[in-house]
Amino acid sequence: AARERMAASTGPGGTADGHSIPLLLNIGSAKDVRPDAEGVGLFRTEFLFLDRADAPGFDEQVEAYSAVLRALPGRRVVIRTLDAGSDKPLPFLGLPVEENPALGLRGLRTARRRHDVLDTQLRAVAEADKACEAETWVMAPMVSTVAEAADFARHARGHGLSHVGVMVEVPAAALHAGHLLREVDFLSIGTNDLGQYTFAADRQHADLADLLDPWQPALIHLLALCGEAARASGKPVGVCGEAAADPLLALVLTGLGMTSLSMSAPSVPAVRESLRAHTMDECARLADLALKALDPSEARRAVTLGAG
Ligand code: PEP
Ligand code: MG
Repeated sequence: AARERMAASTGPGGTADGHSIPLLLNIGSAKDVRPDAEGVGLFRTEFLFLDRADAPGFDEQVEAYSAVLRALPGRRVVIRTLDAGSDKPLPFLGLPVEENPALGLRGLRTARRRHDVLDTQLRAVAEADKACEAETWVMAPMVSTVAEAADFARHARGHGLSHVGVMVEVPAAALHAGHLLREVDFLSIGTNDLGQYTFAADRQHADLADLLDPWQPALIHLLALCGEAARASGKPVGVCGEAAADPLLALVLTGLGMTSLSMSAPSVPAVRESLRAHTMDECARLADLALKALDPSEARRAVTLGAG
């Protein structure tokens, strides 16, 4: 049994009946990459931009992205464009001080004022992609409309990038998941922000943790819309927020139709074992139980019992 457990904690992610669910890494720089990873599902590039007086230049960005791409030849690396604003303020952007930064110019919206920053970044990603053998995917954070997705896709493809996606972090994007997938090649759901904006609860607010619980059934309903859009389009839809790191919730996400899960490296083995112990049909049944619950504790209880 010990040997089986060892075997189960390495190798690719998938269900007991062989449906592949790649388990990807959330990283902030090349230091976080593990050479045996299936790929990277979220490269948070803003860490390169934080705590500095000027934006990193083109060459510096090419080097930072290449360092990650070089480490994962033949594998998927999803690079997220700068997610500035709100909890990640960047003074050099020169954006106005806002009363409500979480509802202001953040994520892709910063490009409304500083399109040059996005343009340099996409150029650097495309340059790094040319020189490396990883499969470079690029996505934008905080997208709320089909028009924003179409605009980003046109821009990224104009730089020669061919796997272009957007994050689903606001309810409007989840409600339009199917329409978004007509414009882009994939979606990645950021459950941290999607929870914040669905429940109108600041994700850093210690007194509101119950509202930010990723087991909230209303949040799971929005994820279900994204899963249906994935099935209908045949395009990849992953989760890269904290929800994906919960081994039990990972079963629900898989049952909803998510095609990959992304998390920090220490969470991967437990999620892998959990998936390997359940078939896709079982995951679908667990997803139904979570969708029927009225609050997070009922959802957790029903899925815990159902998962056996
Ligand atoms: C999220 O919002 O769930 C997400 C993955 O992005 P970040 O945590 O960087 O905002
Ligand atoms: Mg986010």
